[in-house]
Amino acid sequence: MSIDSLAATNFIRNIIDADLAGNAYATRRWSGKPGTAAEQQHAPADTAKIRTRFPPEPNGYLHFGHAKSILLNFGLARDYGGVCHLRFDDTNPEKEEQEFVDGIIDAVRWLGGRNCTNPAVDNPASPIYFASDYFDWMYRFAEHLIEHGDAYVDSQSADDMRANRGSLTEPGKSSPFRNRSVTENLQMFREMRDGKHAEGSHVLRAKIDMSSPNINLRDPALYRIKHAHHHRHGDKWHIYPMYAYAHPIEDALENITHSLCTLEFEDQRPWYDWLLNKLAEVGELLRPLPKQIEFSRLNLTYIITSKRFLKQLVEQGHVSGWDDPRMPTIVGARRRGFTPKGFQLFVERIGVSKSDSWIDMSVLEDCQREVMNEACLRRVAVLDPLKLEITNYDALASESCLAPNHPQKPELGKRELTFSRELWIERDDFAEVPPKGFFRLTPGGMVRLRFAYVIKCTSVEKDAAGRITKVLAEYLPETKSGSSGADAVKVKGNIHWLSARHAVAAEVRLFDRLFSVPYPGRGVDNSTQNFLDDLNPASKQVVTAYVEPSLSLAAADDRVQFERHGYFVADRVDSTPGKPVWNRAVTLRDSWSTQK
Ligand code: ATP
Ligand code: MG
Repeated sequence: MSIDSLAATNFIRNIIDADLAGNAYATRRWSGKPGTAAEQQHAPADTAKIRTRFPPEPNGYLHFGHAKSILLNFGLARDYGGVCHLRFDDTNPEKEEQEFVDGIIDAVRWLGGRNCTNPAVDNPASPIYFASDYFDWMYRFAEHLIEHGDAYVDSQSADDMRANRGSLTEPGKSSPFRNRSVTENLQMFREMRDGKHAEGSHVLRAKIDMSSPNINLRDPALYRIKHAHHHRHGDKWHIYPMYAYAHPIEDALENITHSLCTLEFEDQRPWYDWLLNKLAEVGELLRPLPKQIEFSRLNLTYIITSKRFLKQLVEQGHVSGWDDPRMPTIVGARRRGFTPKGFQLFVERIGVSKSDSWIDMSVLEDCQREVMNEACLRRVAVLDPLKLEITNYDALASESCLAPNHPQKPELGKRELTFSRELWIERDDFAEVPPKGFFRLTPGGMVRLRFAYVIKCTSVEKDAAGRITKVLAEYLPETKSGSSGADAVKVKGNIHWLSARHAVAAEVRLFDRLFSVPYPGRGVDNSTQNFLDDLNPASKQVVTAYVEPSLSLAAADDRVQFERHGYFVADRVDSTPGKPVWNRAVTLRDSWSTQK
């Protein structure tokens, strides 16, 4: 499975086309690993036409929003003969864990498949980039900025710093420490590095313009003191770079050409450019510098994508884990039975634009349906079984009926379903008192048992509570599907069934959306409320169903369509050999848009 072309053109492609047509990258050099100007300048020309990157912070599992970014970045790199770097933005020491690093690699690989152009994903031996590997460079660049009068150590309290930053309508005020000498700044910064100062006592700030209309240019912070343990560097560092300082440098060291981010970073672009230009001016970075381009983030109804809230769902036990099939995470979607191809179709369909909007969950579900409709073999499962006895069929007899594996693909052949006297049918395919327009089985009525015979209901049996325990019927022997008499008797209803003697029991989980409202955590008047109040109490139902015997052979991750019920996958965690557990990925039709 490859990330197929994001066929439609878009504004990002237009920018790349123009850059390539204008030979903007003709002079790029690449030594094969991230590096400064000095390390790249004698390297051969970069053979990658463009370089993009996907830079997750390893502080959680990836969600559906990330899928858009992954498919966009890897897709562009592939389409333009470029390379996409998977880079962990692990500059924040406290929240990062190896579990998340591994989970992210897995998710990217699953979503991208083997054919995307990221060597890190294609080939496990190739590098995966870690922003924290650039700490030494980031530190040196900070000293350079200090030496050139472009950065200073500020010792204001956090409150003063915030108050003096000003607002959209008011200019900021200069810190009383803004004019420290280069020597003093360097000395203090080195002391900060060496752990000689308390957290919060000083920060290193760029020296730009406290009255800039863009608040991001009012002397942004570059480094703060943190006596923290880093997952890859242990206790080496007592200062850590701010994301806004680290990120542009990471892009530049990796020779990224187009750095795609979501729209909320638009106001940061002047800072991104300021910083990289300063470092290029002092000879630390080679031009051409990376270009930041913002695109609309994916906002999808009926889910949340905030990592903090996802974590809360997991930690408070509202779901079974990050990979709960109802979670809007990539591991969750995978377990749910969603396909990488369905995500790719989705990202293609929604496109990329410059303005944020909401996409309805049904669009993603439809894409998943489309892909599975094409790919999945059809099988029968009876989810809510009711016994049906064919009273004029020999109790010891049985026979084969042929059912196509895929109605649109006759080349996939047919399979045998065994017919016998005692069958399972769906409880709701029978109605003693049928509502108007009910074409399935009713007392005295006729229906076709799919791929088998027309039957006529003769009576029902009930238990003491009045619940129907068995339906009795007679079959019409001349009406077998595929025989010359198949059309002799016309009936409107067509129901599925399994032979009670042959079917096997299986655990089936019927998943639905995790939240029952389109904007969890937002009241009708758009007020903020607890997103947990919007959890859908019916998002998971576990039933014991009967399925075709051959399904016992299904391997974890195998997908099928259970006719009339939807697309199901053998759970990758709970299935055991010979005993798959089935998860419903999505129903056959969208039941939400008509309901709400
Ligand atoms: P948080 O800010 O909660 O830590 P995040 O979702 O921004 O999380 P990152 O790991 O920083 O997570 O994101 C990695 C990349 O994924 C970034 O480039 C970001 O722009 C992109 N991304 C995150 N959410 C979305 C989204 N909803 N739509 C498109 N891209 C997204
Ligand atoms: Mg982020």
